[in-house]
Amino acid sequence: MSDPIHIISLGAGVQSSAMSLMAACGEITPMPVAAVFADTQDEPESVYIWLNWLEKQLPFPVHRVTAGSLSAQALKMRTTKDGRSFTVTSIPYFTLSKAGEVGKIPHRTCTADFKIVPLLKAAKRIGQIQRGQKTVGVIQWIGISLDEVSRMKPSRESWCESRWPLIEARMSRHDCLAWIKSKGFPPPPRSACVYCPYHSDAEWRRLKRDEPVAFERAVAFERAASKMKGLTDNFHSTLFLHRSCKPLNEVDFSTEEEHGQLSMFNNECEGMCGV
Ligand code: SF4
Repeated sequence: MSDPIHIISLGAGVQSSAMSLMAACGEITPMPVAAVFADTQDEPESVYIWLNWLEKQLPFPVHRVTAGSLSAQALKMRTTKDGRSFTVTSIPYFTLSKAGEVGKIPHRTCTADFKIVPLLKAAKRIGQIQRGQKTVGVIQWIGISLDEVSRMKPSRESWCESRWPLIEARMSRHDCLAWIKSKGFPPPPRSACVYCPYHSDAEWRRLKRDEPVAFERAVAFERAASKMKGLTDNFHSTLFLHRSCKPLNEVDFSTEEEHGQLSMFNNECEGMCGV
């Protein structure tokens, strides 16, 4: 039986980019056969520019796969035979009930449908995994760093084993940035959909200041989502992207960073978003 192949789950953020470059430099072994980037089609421009640069540095191919446009799916209305309207795909919106209670969407589907499933499908294809295969054919590298250890989740597929090389190397996100700098590489961006409610205020502020087109896309998405809510039967509260439950373009992002507010990807995204 041949050894399993190694494939990188590439989010094109700091951690998975550092992990890929470390593999390219021979600092993590064995050499992966490929990296796979699952594209929600809604990352900021900086991520796609970075990805174009990164794939030229790697000795293995980067496969870009997609389940389509996440924003288009999240705004798509479906209607049942008896006339009820609903959406199938949801992102982790904050919600404000009529009684003024702030909450969160209990079950989001975006990470599973637009990251985990496309990544596994690609790994299965690249690893030529047979139907019903029980032996491990793919080792999937996931870019979780030491500061995000709570996001580690074992693979649910018998043919796929998860590996966390940055945890093995005892590297934090800060260590990844330091390693990249020490090699003379440019700093990677933070990857995530432009409208992701898990953004910290620091990230919202950066987006508004440095990538205004992306920020405006998030504002437009929130408006469309909030309009859609009025038409569906599966959302009973108003939807927001910021935890203050204010429209994004009215939020003062300058107030929170001093209190050390972090992004909310920890323990939420199984290392598939934001790394
Ligand atoms: S970045 Fe946010 S919105 Fe995009 S798939 Fe991940 S959790 Fe969902």
